[in-house]
Amino acid sequence: MHYRQLGPSGLKISALSFGAWVTFGKQIGDAVATKLLHTAYDAGVNFFDNAEAYADGQAELVMGTILKKSGWRRSSYLVSSKVYFGWEDDKPNQSGLSRKHVVDACHDALRRLQVDYLDLYYCHRPDPSVPIYETARAMHDLIVQGKVLYWGTSEWSATELREAHRVCAAHDLHAPVVEQPQYNLFHRARVEKEYGPLYKSPGLGTTIWSPLASGILTGKYTSGVPKNSRLDAPGMEWLRDMILNDPAAKAKIAAVPRLAAIADGLGTSLPKLAIAWCLKNPHVSSVILGASRVEQLQENLGALAVVDQLTPAVMRQLNAIAKPVAT
Ligand code: NDP
Repeated sequence: MHYRQLGPSGLKISALSFGAWVTFGKQIGDAVATKLLHTAYDAGVNFFDNAEAYADGQAELVMGTILKKSGWRRSSYLVSSKVYFGWEDDKPNQSGLSRKHVVDACHDALRRLQVDYLDLYYCHRPDPSVPIYETARAMHDLIVQGKVLYWGTSEWSATELREAHRVCAAHDLHAPVVEQPQYNLFHRARVEKEYGPLYKSPGLGTTIWSPLASGILTGKYTSGVPKNSRLDAPGMEWLRDMILNDPAAKAKIAAVPRLAAIADGLGTSLPKLAIAWCLKNPHVSSVILGASRVEQLQENLGALAVVDQLTPAVMRQLNAIAKPVAT
């Protein structure tokens, strides 16, 4: 495993990390979840990603039980939660980024994950209904109380991030150090262009999500939706509709066999190649892997060994295929 510095912070994060979305507490049983987390940890993964909304809190409960039973030293891993979408009902203050929900959701995550503190606590989306000062102040206070070590954002615009930093500097608050954006061969504008100036100043770590575009970049959806895949899973109809009915997504799926041919030529697999492509970007602190089977995770962890095969010539070939259809 390689470790990278998380943006402007002093934290070392594994270049490959592991997340619980769709799978833990939902698509897979607890025995598989246990094997997955242990496989990741044994390979040197030190960051496990979670959120209040994943399986309405169940993903954190499952991960917390596994962490507790593992006997791993708390100092040896990082665990996150994210606040915004909520997990209970739809009552006022049960979602969003108000001071109340940020604090309630932190306490809930600590209880479910059975830890004394969260290493990373993300605002899962921006909340225009709440002043950024209120959210930043709540995050700062949780850090001062020792319940959170670092805070960050997910899918905030560069403008929102700049405003958060301005407010934090003006009020002497702990500032966000990490953003969690989607990034893969087919989805790249925000990471590559919009955030560009932020990496240098004020500094920005990135833990990127959906490196395989929910599985599209494995080639599994090239001729339909296979049984027992994410797009076939109950509750994921919205994602299936979004992907299969979107003309831009169809162009992406159509480009996959050409990417697979490049992987073939290099003697590797498309998932490994696609993940290695994400790792190639020095502004990516960690690529969060997702898997519903242990074999998938074992394969994807092999991406580290493929990075050196991505010469400038190979990168040009990949970009020539992916860029025209990318968002
Ligand atoms: P990917 O795009 O890598 O998709 C992972 C899924 O693809 C797996 O669950 C599996 O689904 C399939 N897959 C993975 N590897 C293989 C393989 N080698 N061969 C065949 N199929 C494979 O990542 P995710 O979308 O899961 O995102 C990773 C993590 O990022 C999440 O767990 C979460 O922690 C985080 N995330 C954060 C978001 C945010 O808003 N901040 C949003 C989304 C994710 P299957 O077997 O079911 O087809």
